[in-house]
Amino acid sequence: MAKNIDKLVRECIARLTPYSTARDEYQGELGVFLDANESPYENGYNRYPDPHQKALKAQIAAIKGVAAESIFIGNGSDEAIDVLLRVFCEPRVDNVIAIAPSYGMYKVAAAINDVEMREVQLGEEFTLPVGELLAATDEHTKMMFLCSPNNPTGNSFPREQIMRLVEEFDGIVVVDEAYIDFAEAESLKSEIAANPNLVVLQTMSKAWAMAGLRIGLALASQRVVELMSQVKYPYNINVATMSIVEELLRQPIDANVEEIKQQRAVVEQALQQSAAVKKIYPSDANFLLAEVDDADAMYDYLIGKGIIVRNRNRVKGCEGCLRLTIGTPAENEALLKSISEYEKSIVR
Ligand SMILES: *Cc1c(COP(=O)(O)O)cnc(C)c1O
Repeated sequence: MAKNIDKLVRECIARLTPYSTARDEYQGELGVFLDANESPYENGYNRYPDPHQKALKAQIAAIKGVAAESIFIGNGSDEAIDVLLRVFCEPRVDNVIAIAPSYGMYKVAAAINDVEMREVQLGEEFTLPVGELLAATDEHTKMMFLCSPNNPTGNSFPREQIMRLVEEFDGIVVVDEAYIDFAEAESLKSEIAANPNLVVLQTMSKAWAMAGLRIGLALASQRVVELMSQVKYPYNINVATMSIVEELLRQPIDANVEEIKQQRAVVEQALQQSAAVKKIYPSDANFLLAEVDDADAMYDYLIGKGIIVRNRNRVKGCEGCLRLTIGTPAENEALLKSISEYEKSIVR
């Protein structure tokens, strides 16, 4: 059953008359533009960017195989997360749900918007607690944040389980696929046409190697994209970023993604031999979550060797764990060498 998105929208957004830019009111390409109070002196950046990002959306639509009308482009996925909260959640009235442990921004963005966050811990071996997630909802629950492959656990959740939540939950299900390019599982983007309450987040920050440019995507039903576009800053993606991204998107990433996946297996195998490593969780992402003998000690040791990893020891559910990003073969070799030296240093 298709869900009615409009009944989930915050009242102030439903009533909103969105900002109309000069470019919205006149859309020709050629002419003498005296409508936006821009400087007339050309330097490549004197004109406002396209608030609808038409050229970039057409390019992304072709790459992702989704309609341009189903694409929202944000200043990183972080903007998409914030805009979703602002479209759907009435501060102090509505609530949202997220899995835990997961990406920290969901909770921070909810807190900034004064929206209650209900966290539901993953099950044994980081499985998706479908029943508990549904049980945590009430009539004010507007959104559910899932992340698959999940950060920091690295695993993907079965498609049928996520789709069960999309079907049974009446609010918006956000599935963050920041790491999907490293996974064997298929993206849920093919489900957005039939499921208006499904929002798939992707990003240019990981496999596409553009973290510094800040481009995140929300792939969703046309109505959700329309609402998000009304709430974002009109010129959220600047001219310089758009032209660089358009150029970099023409360069294939397949070989690098393949190398990362192959290196992930190399690092995993080597770590499994280490006496200092208790467990490596299966990963569909460009990182490994490793449970080690003493996470703080190994973290400090690696820092001493100039290698920075993410210490997840104080994250509930990840006690004793370090999150290791897969780097170049040389970087991974340096990591493994240091861990093996650390291992020797602790042998008693
Ligand atoms: C890295 C990451 C992102 C990317 O965020 P951007 O703002 O697009 O850089 C999104 N979600 C998760 C879970 C991540 O780990």
